[in-house]
Amino acid sequence: MTEHFDAIVIGSGLGGLTAGALFSRAGYRVLLLERNDHFGGAATTYHRGRMTIEASLHETTDPRRGPDLEGEVFDTLGLYDDLELVPVSWSSGSKPVTVRPGPAVR
Ligand SMILES: Cc1cc2nc3c(=O)[nH]c(=O)nc-3n(C[C@H](O)[C@H](O)[C@H](O)COP(=O)(O)OP(=O)(O)OC[C@H]3O[C@@H](n4cnc5c(N)ncnc54)[C@H](O)[C@@H]3O)c2cc1C
Repeated sequence: MTEHFDAIVIGSGLGGLTAGALFSRAGYRVLLLERNDHFGGAATTYHRGRMTIEASLHETTDPRRGPDLEGEVFDTLGLYDDLELVPVSWSSGSKPVTVRPGPAVR
């Protein structure tokens, strides 16, 4: 592994991962440092029994709609092919979303 880097990114949350990926895509050698044993920062999941729980990131705007910095990043990194964007509709006229009960967690 090289010991010379053009950029050192501290933290592998969405911000650090995005910065690191953009630097890397631009041809820079990047070292990404994370203090935890998993990456993703707040945007990660954890497990309790059979349940997988999202720690934070649940939904986002559709980056394909209109000028959007997020859309530019997705374009630059070529992420659209790897994403399945699921529409979420929630308005006063829409039907309520039913959340099925999962297993009890102690
Ligand atoms: C409860 C909750 C719900 C949310 N829901 C949504 C949502 O639905 N939609 C949405 O778009 N956004 C949502 N967000 C916001 C989104 O999750 C955050 O804005 C985003 O994940 C933050 O990313 P970040 O890279 O700025 O920071 P973080 O995710 O905090 O990442 C920082 C990383 O840096 C690491 N780090 C810090 N200091 C050091 C160090 N000295 N050395 C090494 N590593 C270090 C940390 O361990 C961490 O991994 C939610 C946030 C929360 C808390």
